[in-house]
Amino acid sequence: MEKIYDVIIIGAGPAGLSAAIYAGRSRLSTLIIEGNAEGGQIVTTSEIANYPGAEENESGPSLIARMVAQAEGFGAEFLRASVTDVILDCDPKIISCGSAEYYARSVIIASGAQPARIGCPGEAELTGAGVSYCATCDGPFFDGLPVYVVGGGDAAVEEAIYLARFASKVYIIHRRDTLRAAKSIQDKAFAEPKIEFLWNTTVEEIKGEDFMESMTLLNVKDGTRTEVSGQFGLFVFVGFKPNSALFEGLLETERGYIKTDSEMRTSLPGVFAAGDIRVKSLRQVVTAVSDGAVAAVSAEKYLDEQAG
Ligand SMILES: Cc1cc2nc3c(=O)[nH]c(=O)nc-3n(C[C@H](O)[C@H](O)[C@H](O)COP(=O)(O)OP(=O)(O)OC[C@H]3O[C@@H](n4cnc5c(N)ncnc54)[C@H](O)[C@@H]3O)c2cc1C
Repeated sequence: MEKIYDVIIIGAGPAGLSAAIYAGRSRLSTLIIEGNAEGGQIVTTSEIANYPGAEENESGPSLIARMVAQAEGFGAEFLRASVTDVILDCDPKIISCGSAEYYARSVIIASGAQPARIGCPGEAELTGAGVSYCATCDGPFFDGLPVYVVGGGDAAVEEAIYLARFASKVYIIHRRDTLRAAKSIQDKAFAEPKIEFLWNTTVEEIKGEDFMESMTLLNVKDGTRTEVSGQFGLFVFVGFKPNSALFEGLLETERGYIKTDSEMRTSLPGVFAAGDIRVKSLRQVVTAVSDGAVAAVSAEKYLDEQAG
């Protein structure tokens, strides 16, 4: 007989780890499956300053290491594998990682999301070292310094307005000569004296050793190049992609994000979603761990109800 877990958690980012801590502590047999290193998006950041109780100079990896130890301490089992298929409308639910199958009475989806990249040389190497995808997380690090924002949609322009609180100047780099953002957001940006637009422009290359030192901008209309150097930040908002391909057509979604109620219940009984993967307004570690805790408690209630 294959083991049937009380709960299988897909993804060991902050949401999944928090769910594992709560499920494990409630003595639910818990398997957490992670395709990469534990920690999700936050392991790419060298400083997390806005998580309540974070230690001085707390890094993403150090915070995650403590969460992993806590989840293991409460008995959660960890498996390093990518989930490749799911059958969720049956009991037990079946989670496949290649040819291996795992079974559970309930499932918490915490597969997160990932910011879209510009795709230029230097971007990956300097992420977290001058290149950021999160204004709420990293904006205050650039107090009094110029920042460059890439993108022309709602997120880019809204975040540029937010960054104007800290930065000495905000340049919006947009590859076209008009914005895609809603008119009301555009109006606010045009009225903000700190914001300047670099139209028809893309980032061609980002350079630096341990930290970003310079970048080359290309004017796509006239082909001229401009070198930006000194201390500055580069914030990229060219889209955000939920890791939800596996669940398409199985669960109710909105623009790829899984819909839940406030108890983290999805459209299928016994299936919960937590963290960046779900429809929500603030995607941060603090909200991800909150979702994970709620999802685990909801899974426990669901299991109790099933047991009658
Ligand atoms: C560069 C950067 C800096 C940030 N800085 C901050 C900050 O300072 N403060 C803050 O609060 N927030 C910050 N954030 C946001 C924060 O990291 C996210 O909100 C948070 O990580 C979301 O947690 P999550 O568990 O929902 O998802 P994720 O962190 O995305 O984790 C999801 C996990 O699921 C795994 N997974 C996905 N699909 C599968 C599959 N099929 N099989 C197995 N595993 C799978 C992924 O590998 C990943 O490990 C930052 C984000 C980025 C990108």
